[in-house]
Amino acid sequence: MDSASPPSAIKRLGQNFLVDPNIVRKIVVLAGISPTDTVLEIGPGRGILTEALCRTAGHVAAIEIDPRLHAFLSERTAHLPNVVLVLGDALTSPVEHLPIGTIVVANLPYYISTPLLFRLLAQGNRFARLVLMLQNEVADRLIAKPGSPDYGVLSVMAQYSANISKAFKVSPQCFRPRPEVDSAVVLLHTLAPRARQPEEEQRFTALVRAAFAHRRKTLVNSLKNEGYDSKHVEAALSTLQLSPSLRAETLALEQFLELARALS
Ligand code: SAM
Repeated sequence: MDSASPPSAIKRLGQNFLVDPNIVRKIVVLAGISPTDTVLEIGPGRGILTEALCRTAGHVAAIEIDPRLHAFLSERTAHLPNVVLVLGDALTSPVEHLPIGTIVVANLPYYISTPLLFRLLAQGNRFARLVLMLQNEVADRLIAKPGSPDYGVLSVMAQYSANISKAFKVSPQCFRPRPEVDSAVVLLHTLAPRARQPEEEQRFTALVRAAFAHRRKTLVNSLKNEGYDSKHVEAALSTLQLSPSLRAETLALEQFLELARALS
């Protein structure tokens, strides 16, 4: 490989590179970046988005796991004074040094989009907003409301941390190689961290997971299967004036929070 030719795509690393400059433009506009902002990009790949971000932001930090792409991009961005390329895994690379209010922009590697999303959302106000390219199906789950078949653990837990909207769909034709699924760009405005103890957070997370563990059962039965005392659950539901026959998918985020409190 000569030094100027881009490395070929590795499927296992979720390497579907954006090739449509119009989508890049729309992502950058959506992110609302000003020249004083710091942007974190996950998976800069061949750098199509990175270069556009460097033209708009004050600083760009980009974490790439593939050493071939890291080397390629180091050369491609050598003339840019405001980018730091980190060779590492975005699931574990430190982000605590980034300023509060950093904006995250990424065409995410789809094979780890959910754990990456939760890692980013767990940083509290470190990140003001996130503009993320995801599988369209994941985007639909993120924005789903109670009663929808897409509503589940991902919807509740993400909406606990952010206001989320789906900005636009992106066709497979905008990538090389083309992914097998439709994609969508979502905008997540992170919410001020709730004043809650870590144990309360853990109880809430465990409850949401247990509630959706058996989707076709009633909430009481699903929780019972996951080790909760059904009398205790029924009493808590009654205190909250909720029917014992309802299913997890009908409960709104605030009702899950109240139930976690009532069960504690
Ligand atoms: N941003 C580029 C673009 O839009 O064309 C590339 C996006 S591609 C969908 C995902 C990128 O994430 C690839 O460059 C891939 O190597 C990188 N990647 C995959 N797993 C990663 C990880 N755990 N940490 C950091 N980067 C990762």
